[in-house]
Amino acid sequence: MGISKLAGMRSKDPNTQVGACIVSEDNNILSMGYNGFPKGCSDDDFPWDREGDMLHSKYAYVTHSELNAILNFRGGSLEGSKLYVSLFPCNECAKAIIQSGIKTVIYDSDKYNGTPGNTAAKRMFDAAGVTYVKYEHTGRTLSIDV
Ligand SMILES: [Zn+2]
Repeated sequence: MGISKLAGMRSKDPNTQVGACIVSEDNNILSMGYNGFPKGCSDDDFPWDREGDMLHSKYAYVTHSELNAILNFRGGSLEGSKLYVSLFPCNECAKAIIQSGIKTVIYDSDKYNGTPGNTAAKRMFDAAGVTYVKYEHTGRTLSIDV
């Protein structure tokens, strides 16, 4: 989870930084991702706004951390892997998680619990046999000076 949150800190989204880290069944890191625009889509040219019409808001352009972590993986199959993510996946990421073969989601925040997208994600995880568990904080603090 620490690696996920570190990855999330790379996001340029001024409001929401989400990070994800995919690990193998024996906990080796396979991939990481954070919420951002696709390659070539500069933060100077694309909006981070949350308001306004779709073309002028981030929602048309941003790729979530979970999908980026899946797409960043170049090593073959993610079958049976686990995903650590700082925020419970939305329904769109849930589809990608299921289809990629990830079997366990360990999440921290679930601040959208009960919203339609969140409920849909859990419904799909339940149907597909993807386990989701709340991360249990260790009480450790990570401080890195770079
Ligand atoms: Zn998502």
